[in-house]
Amino acid sequence: MAEPRVLILGGGPAGVGAARELARRGHGHATLLEAAAHYGGNAGSFEFGGQWLDYGSHRLHPATDPAIMADIRALLGADLKDRPRHGRIRLLGKWIHFPLKPVDLLLRLDKRFAVGTLRDMVAKKLPGRASDGDTFESVIRANLGSTIAEEFYLPYAVKLWGRDPKELSGVQARKRVAAGSFGKLVRKVLSAVPGFKPPGAGRFFYPVRGFGQISEAYAADAARLGADMRLGWRMTRIEMPAGERAPWRVHAASASGSEVLEAEYLWSTIPVTLLARAMASGVPAEVLAAAERVTYRSMILIYLQLSVEQFTEYDAHYFPGANTRITRLSEPKNYSALGRPKGTTILCAELPCALGDDVWSMSDAELGRLLADDLAGCGLPLPVQPTAVFTRRLPQAYPIYLMGYEEPLARLERWVESVPRLLSYGRQGLFQHDNTHHALAMAYGAVDCMQSGAFDAARWSELRKVYAKHVVED
Ligand SMILES: Cc1cc2nc3c(=O)[nH]c(=O)nc-3n(C[C@H](O)[C@H](O)[C@H](O)COP(=O)(O)OP(=O)(O)OC[C@H]3O[C@@H](n4cnc5c(N)ncnc54)[C@H](O)[C@@H]3O)c2cc1C
Repeated sequence: MAEPRVLILGGGPAGVGAARELARRGHGHATLLEAAAHYGGNAGSFEFGGQWLDYGSHRLHPATDPAIMADIRALLGADLKDRPRHGRIRLLGKWIHFPLKPVDLLLRLDKRFAVGTLRDMVAKKLPGRASDGDTFESVIRANLGSTIAEEFYLPYAVKLWGRDPKELSGVQARKRVAAGSFGKLVRKVLSAVPGFKPPGAGRFFYPVRGFGQISEAYAADAARLGADMRLGWRMTRIEMPAGERAPWRVHAASASGSEVLEAEYLWSTIPVTLLARAMASGVPAEVLAAAERVTYRSMILIYLQLSVEQFTEYDAHYFPGANTRITRLSEPKNYSALGRPKGTTILCAELPCALGDDVWSMSDAELGRLLADDLAGCGLPLPVQPTAVFTRRLPQAYPIYLMGYEEPLARLERWVESVPRLLSYGRQGLFQHDNTHHALAMAYGAVDCMQSGAFDAARWSELRKVYAKHVVED
């Protein structure tokens, strides 16, 4: 039987992983459309001034499925470095090492915070659900106590998702907060102690040409194996199959022209909301209305180039407090630790915002000043004037799980499932807070479901139950 044609939308990890696996296993002939000029999506990289930069801090976590890890190692070889994590959290005016370390916590933790947390731990009787509804705030208060909630997670949530934590679903807390209970928090602290240390604790993997090298390697291998990989090609409109055996017709445009591509299967990793809106016809009005109620948080990455060898020794600084607008600052040179380029380093700050809001519309120069002010306010003034200030904008950075988000999302998902030979997956396609290793796991899972030229929907729905349990690694 001839291999079915599979058209993949999006060249992030979910897209390139599927293209490569389809080609490697001979389960389908993949054509992949990626609108950007490089692969990797939000997990991609670009070069500036001789340095590789990511879209915010990205690390490959040791929790990666061993089979996928083996593939990544084989694709990247010696370019994949195993690195120790070395970050700091700004908490009540003090710097705490992250990952947490017992001695550092004892020496540096704000005493009022430490006493409050211990009091909350003793007072906490029952684990589990909050009494005050199932909101982000009530779940965090119930599981981690008021001190950690008020000084850490609640202000952080306001910055990350732009909403009052009472308006956010408790699911956001369960999926996004890895140390979601006192027990888990204690285990995280103990994981820094020899003897209690699980394999991989406090370490991460990182490629020498930026995090995006992982996706680039998958894409190159897919092309080598015969997949049709198209960078700079944007899907503009989709015509649904006109009959049971008719193909999908996908309109695509690039700088060199436009084309209509046909395929038996359409696998989409773009935001599920955009997928629904891209259909030329045949989408029920209530599905399009549901797409309006499923919202993503945007993000601006602010980069400052400084003519110093190193800004600090830390890979990342985390800023949960309300006194800064940025949530994280990374120094990419410290991730690969190659010491290149000499005499210069670039900082990358993450500033969550809403598409089109006042922050989104700020100029690069204004954003550079905002970042310099935030850093100076935390005792990290810039040592020299930046030699370059530039930004990148992510329209869809984080899914926002508002209270009641399940209903419109379920409507969208039922619609996707009702359309034959259509799959929506990946972080944007399933509206999940997923890491890259989760997106790759979904790509491999989708290809597992493609057997003898047909997609096994029952098997996919079993895999979906596994994917629903993903918890994000920070
Ligand atoms: C600030 C930040 C930090 C993160 N840190 C980590 C980390 O440390 N470790 C980790 O594992 N993960 C991290 N992640 C998550 C990681 O970025 C995602 O898991 C990963 O990018 C998901 O891959 P994906 O393929 O599902 O989606 P995406 O990466 O979003 O890819 C979707 C692709 O679709 C393309 N596209 C959209 N519309 C069209 C169209 N019309 N036509 C063609 N192409 C289109 C986009 O250009 C994009 O390339 C982080 C995410 C963010 C935002």
